[in-house]
Amino acid sequence: MRIARFTTGGEPTYGVITGDLDEYGQLSDDAVVAELQGDPLYAGITPTGREAKLSDVRLIAPVLPRSKVVAVGRNYAAHAAEMGSEVPEEPLLFMKPNTSVIGPGDAIAYPKQTEDLHYEGELAVVIGRICRDVPAAQATDVIFGYTIANDVTARDLQRKDVQFTRAKGFDTFCPLGPWIETDLDPQDFSDGRRLQTYLNGDLKQDGSTADLIFDIPTLVEHISSVMTLLPGDVILTGTPEGVGPMEVGDEVEVSIDGLGALTNKVEKRK
Ligand code: ZN
Repeated sequence: MRIARFTTGGEPTYGVITGDLDEYGQLSDDAVVAELQGDPLYAGITPTGREAKLSDVRLIAPVLPRSKVVAVGRNYAAHAAEMGSEVPEEPLLFMKPNTSVIGPGDAIAYPKQTEDLHYEGELAVVIGRICRDVPAAQATDVIFGYTIANDVTARDLQRKDVQFTRAKGFDTFCPLGPWIETDLDPQDFSDGRRLQTYLNGDLKQDGSTADLIFDIPTLVEHISSVMTLLPGDVILTGTPEGVGPMEVGDEVEVSIDGLGALTNKVEKRK
């Protein structure tokens, strides 16, 4: 299922999107969103019977983490190399505040404190159950689904601060979406799903999730051995090579085969 959150101007609600993806990962014009009552992450859901054309609604972030976004650094060897870094011996963790999350179509706000704002296209894992100390072999039991993220980073502040809290923690620095795909499993990504980032239509990142150094089950085991994971927590799995700067007015799109495309514009921070 493709689970989305959307609004038609009133309260956000969940829905299930039906329709085929075209070769660009976009949904066909006749795609429909069927409204759900309830919250799939915390309780049961039931269809309300109401439907809308996707073009008549606005998709918002498919999950608003109540607790945390845990991210993984240098999880693709070619990206570690372009950063002049070694591949870590175990997953390198950092966190982004849940207040950094925005949805598809929302603006990434360029802060005045940086002069080097980068995109990082990433596969995101959405946790569906409260859990800790999850063995890798049982990771699928606690995963709700998968979506796309842009781990927006102020690269100059990342270098200056050594640790990542400010550089990756500004409001709007975690676009998520466009929906959560619940029908895939970690092996689909280990087998290889193409991950691409376009800046103003130019291809900048062209990677494969097969190149993840630490795969999804390993990340779930590692992270849950450190901290309890809650429903709605999100894991960003790292970015392939090709990161680079964005400027005010740019449009950035991250696409992953089967997960659609996440598009955001960069605006000056008000
Ligand atoms: Zn990243």
